[in-house]
Amino acid sequence: MADRLPKQAEDFPAWYVEVVKRAGMAEHGLAKGSQVIKPHGYAIWEFIQRALDDRFKATGHENVYFPLFIPEKLLQKEAEHVEGFSPELAVVTIGGGEVLEEPLVVRPTSEAVIWQTYGKWIQSYRDLPLLYNQWCNVVRWEMRTRLFLRSSEFLWQEGHTAHATKDEAVEEALRMLEVYREVCEDVLAIPVLGGRKSQAEKFPGAVDTYTNEGLMRDAKALQCCTSHFLGQNFSKAYDVSFLNAQGEQELPWGTSWGFTTRMVGALVMAHGDDRGLRLPPAVAPVQVVIVPIYKTDEEKSSVLGVAGRMRAALAGEGIRVRVDDRDQHRPGFKFSEWELKGVPLRVEIGPRDLASGEVVVANRVSGDKATHSIDNAVSEMPGMLQQVQAALFADAQAFLETNTHTAGSFEELSEGIEARGGFWVGPWCGDHACEEKVTAETKATIRVLPIQQADPGGQCLVCGRPGTEYATWGRAY
Ligand SMILES: [Zn+2]
Repeated sequence: MADRLPKQAEDFPAWYVEVVKRAGMAEHGLAKGSQVIKPHGYAIWEFIQRALDDRFKATGHENVYFPLFIPEKLLQKEAEHVEGFSPELAVVTIGGGEVLEEPLVVRPTSEAVIWQTYGKWIQSYRDLPLLYNQWCNVVRWEMRTRLFLRSSEFLWQEGHTAHATKDEAVEEALRMLEVYREVCEDVLAIPVLGGRKSQAEKFPGAVDTYTNEGLMRDAKALQCCTSHFLGQNFSKAYDVSFLNAQGEQELPWGTSWGFTTRMVGALVMAHGDDRGLRLPPAVAPVQVVIVPIYKTDEEKSSVLGVAGRMRAALAGEGIRVRVDDRDQHRPGFKFSEWELKGVPLRVEIGPRDLASGEVVVANRVSGDKATHSIDNAVSEMPGMLQQVQAALFADAQAFLETNTHTAGSFEELSEGIEARGGFWVGPWCGDHACEEKVTAETKATIRVLPIQQADPGGQCLVCGRPGTEYATWGRAY
């Protein structure tokens, strides 16, 4: 292996980029601002996709696909929406060698084209709800790439639903927030803080934006996903209405919600250590790697024989297992490489182990190495993987708790954010001026407000007027 990885504590951003590149997850693309997702990163994304998609289907959603190009004038119908997205639009003005009569926007998100189309699909209350999702790429012009976290094109899913009542739409937005929480916590082992965004931080065109925020190991927050209650903003802008059961015209209520490839980056930053990735087994492309150790040809054939049988037995248990029988690398090199790639469990089989009917199992998360009889190693492996999954979550949960603080004053808030990072919670009056002041002085933003506004029973940390809700502040990616 080349030079050692930068240490997390010394240079977290450099550590992150090196892990992503050396683990074969992604690299910068040829066009400025773009990125290439490589096999190890894409395989993780596929597990995330499956975890989400299964849950979307289980909650009654179907997949659809809308076009990549959106007539520019369509986007302009919702004023707040277009204002929010204009600075980052890519617009096609020439097609087939000719200047287009009407420019086409490369989708930054699909509310505009989907609500315009819903106008044709929604006539009566019997047509509702529409519960659709699409898997696609989106483009938001961006010249400074940060692998997985920021690039001009990324992959995501976007759900777009339409409902007959406000209550139903709010319920849907919160249901999907809960689906996202489950995937973050139970699949990615990233504990999250769920809540509502401030009006300044919400999605352009939404009434309310809900989010799950995670905390990375450098104590910076990361918005893991968002779910928006759109009110009737888009049905109004795109002339979508329906006949209710009483024969009256009404505007449907909307939601949209998204989860992106940035979560592959979040996985790196929430769990990784100085040796590289530590992957939750639920999304690890390889859950168990078997490294055979031998010197002579005779040892090689007996060790590989046992490794092959063990591989088959583990695969039979539904475990994603690989035998690393590459001849050109020594075992020590292989150990480091699989540690870098975050493989949860490593099995070492050498001639001495074979003689005693045993193997060594190394745990990437705890760092423990233990000797098991070959038969036990196979039967205990599913349980060991569950333990790794639980241990990663517990680790991240403890980190989140240690790094969530209560601020009693503005000084405590700003000094705390500067010195320790993490989440800082305190009363806020709801005034945007106070929100801006904190951001101007600390570079922290309101990450979440409680889903239901509640009196914090204290004075705003910034202006001293009565607080109207608890705000959670933090510096974020
Ligand atoms: Zn205030």
